[in-house]
Amino acid sequence: MRALILSDIHGNLEALEACVAAAPAHDIVVNLGDIVGYGASPNEVIECARGLGKFFVRGNHDKAAVGLIPVEDFNPLAALAAVWTQGQLTPENRDWLVALPPGPLEIEGLPGIQFVHGSPLDEDEYIVTPQEAIEPLLTSSVPLTFYGHTHLQGYFSTDGSTCEIFRPTYDTVGQSETLPLLLQKGLSYLINPGSVGQPRDGDWRAAFALLDSNTRVVTYHRVPYRLQEAQDRILAANLPERLATRLAAGR
Ligand code: ZN
Repeated sequence: MRALILSDIHGNLEALEACVAAAPAHDIVVNLGDIVGYGASPNEVIECARGLGKFFVRGNHDKAAVGLIPVEDFNPLAALAAVWTQGQLTPENRDWLVALPPGPLEIEGLPGIQFVHGSPLDEDEYIVTPQEAIEPLLTSSVPLTFYGHTHLQGYFSTDGSTCEIFRPTYDTVGQSETLPLLLQKGLSYLINPGSVGQPRDGDWRAAFALLDSNTRVVTYHRVPYRLQEAQDRILAANLPERLATRLAAGR
């Protein structure tokens, strides 16, 4: 089975459309949450994401946008964007966000794989370092976990004793690029497809991944998108200018 894995779209319609256009053939789409928050197209992104498939876990920004967690837990920029998003959501899209499940999500036909937003141990936890990765890697009931939340494309793996970290590097700063990874038998992995709409690894391009469970290959993708249009929407919505400028820096 081929699964297109999207995470952290954050209301960025232009980035989502670029990923969908660039995605190779796939059987299902799995969304790892933070569909809204920061970007200026929450309703359009929800409607596009819902049209792509039925597999979702919720993110912390999805929860904040519908009052499931207080925005006071967020930094001021994120809180401001969450309050703005609350005011934009249609009643139907709001109800849909409220009903999103927490992870871990398992999918029929993909044995040994789970999908979460933050960590298999805590949906809101950030896994950034090998020290943070080792416990979820060693205690997970399945060898392969896809997660988001950090907006950092890459993976952690372990053979049971040491923990390896990998972050893809690419040849260009503005073109479509792919990087395949062959999953080794006997290792456990935590794999982050990167953020579709709010990259934080210094690369402005939209990020996603494709899993082929038959060949055990995960392919990382980076694709350019209509950045200026996404920025113009943020400015037109009177959201903070910083939310527009940081998209260009991928930070
Ligand atoms: Zn996020």
